Amino acid sequence: MKILTFDIEEWFHILDNDSTKTFREWSNYETRIHSNMDKIFDLLAKSNQKATFFVVGWIAEKYPEVVKKIDNYGYEVGSHTYMHQLMYEQKRVEVEEDLQKSIKVLESITGKKVKAFRAPGFSITEKNKWVFEILAENGITHDSSIFPAGRAHGGFPSYSEAKPSLIDINGYKLKEFPINTASVLNKKWIYSGGGYFRITPYSMIKYWTESSDYIMTYFHPRDFDPYQPIIKELPLSRKFKSYVGLANCIKKLEKWTADFKFIDLKEADKSIDWSSVSIVKL
Ligand SMILES: [Zn+2]
Repeated sequence: MKILTFDIEEWFHILDNDSTKTFREWSNYETRIHSNMDKIFDLLAKSNQKATFFVVGWIAEKYPEVVKKIDNYGYEVGSHTYMHQLMYEQKRVEVEEDLQKSIKVLESITGKKVKAFRAPGFSITEKNKWVFEILAENGITHDSSIFPAGRAHGGFPSYSEAKPSLIDINGYKLKEFPINTASVLNKKWIYSGGGYFRITPYSMIKYWTESSDYIMTYFHPRDFDPYQPIIKELPLSRKFKSYVGLANCIKKLEKWTADFKFIDLKEADKSIDWSSVSIVKL
């Protein structure tokens, strides 16, 4: 199965960078979410695909029409936290309050229970795996925060299952949909979202897609916006990752979604026999 998901945030929701850290800075920046969302909606309509949207609560509160549109089109809405912070830098009480705030605002717009979650920057690691307990306590049943490789922020390299599995932590159980990996020279390579998708040649993406039985994607509205302002403070390596390949990204995703059938998290959940997946004790 190939699952299409989008993390709905602005172009300035860049982690681990002081000039874009909190809402005090965010209010100085221009709004680009609407035009970028339209590109995503057009793509889904054209390719007749469904998707799950993990929405930042701050965005939902400021632009409820964005969430309304997602819901009206029949797409699934999940939480991407309220304040889009690195979760391994937060205390338990901060994680809990922020999650509850995000769920409340999303549910007030759609009238539907929020059951799916993705952490900003995949920032659930060995160090703060207790986040899963808080997710479960707050009604989250489906998570897609595991990045089973190392990365600048977050990453859970010890999570060996790059396919749907059941997380078992202190008696709490969650259905986990990790990011998938490919193997290049015995190293894990990610290609299904963000900068990784943009730098990986389409021929390789297509080859891996044909040969794997599970793909979890993650795109952002800014991935399709070559005209977004450049955040000057970012170090060169992060600038490269953030801005490489933006001009062709929507075309590339159009190709991918024309060549393959994708589904949303809800449909993926239904098609999995959960009694036969691996249980990962954390
Ligand atoms: Zn994010």
